[in-house]
Amino acid sequence: MPENPGAFNRKAARMDETTVFRILATVLGLVLGSFYNVCIHRGLTGESIANPPRSKCPKCGHFLSWWENIPLVSWLMLRGRCRNCRKPISARYPLVEALSGAVALALAVKFGPGMTFAVYLAFSGLLIVLAFIDLASFMLPLWPMIIGAVLAMVCAPLFLGIPLVDALLAAGVGAGTFWLVRWAYRRLRGIEGLGEGDIWLMLLLGPLTGLRHLPFVILASGVSLIAFNLPMLLRQGRRDAQGNPMQTPIPYGPFLCLGAMLAILVGDDVLAWYLGTVR
Ligand SMILES: [Zn+2]
Repeated sequence: MPENPGAFNRKAARMDETTVFRILATVLGLVLGSFYNVCIHRGLTGESIANPPRSKCPKCGHFLSWWENIPLVSWLMLRGRCRNCRKPISARYPLVEALSGAVALALAVKFGPGMTFAVYLAFSGLLIVLAFIDLASFMLPLWPMIIGAVLAMVCAPLFLGIPLVDALLAAGVGAGTFWLVRWAYRRLRGIEGLGEGDIWLMLLLGPLTGLRHLPFVILASGVSLIAFNLPMLLRQGRRDAQGNPMQTPIPYGPFLCLGAMLAILVGDDVLAWYLGTVR
């Protein structure tokens, strides 16, 4: 029996509000994930996002009824196949929805209700869309990154606690570093090692993480790129039937987006831990 029942109840009510917020954030993330799927599909095919407004099967054009369009649930219920043409629906759809829900939950836990949560949720959507377009096409669409970078520089000082100078420096240093790496790689190896899109992407990611997290973004993106592509990278050392070294292109953009999301979610903790071990 607590000494002060009133205080105990107030604490319980607050905990419930926190739980409700996190559940709502996750559901919002799942629903937004469906929208991101539409954006990714139309980004890849060049169709307009607004027209036609209803979701349809990309294989047969069958319009989805509401129950075929519930994030995750529908894909599982339909066992990954279109109800009309029975052709498989890409696993990308449930993957994007689950990822979007998980990111929304993680942001809700980290920031709680408020503008910081809302702004990072919106930008995480842009990063998910960009990452999956890059994965599928090895191309990063330019204009969403430029508009995103401008908005990120406006939002950083207003809602994210990152001063404007910091945001501008992070964009400049991030993009500048990648421009230099690209230039040096081309000089030394005579081939493109890094896409131009990755330079533009850094203009967007820099203001979202701030200058102090740039080393973490680059390190985390490099480590995750190697970890995810280890089997393919091991093959690269070999030679193909014609005796040429095997070169499989790997999109770097998705791993930069992942690195930036990790920096937003755990960057402060990692930095505090690192500074603690150095001192
Ligand atoms: Zn179909």
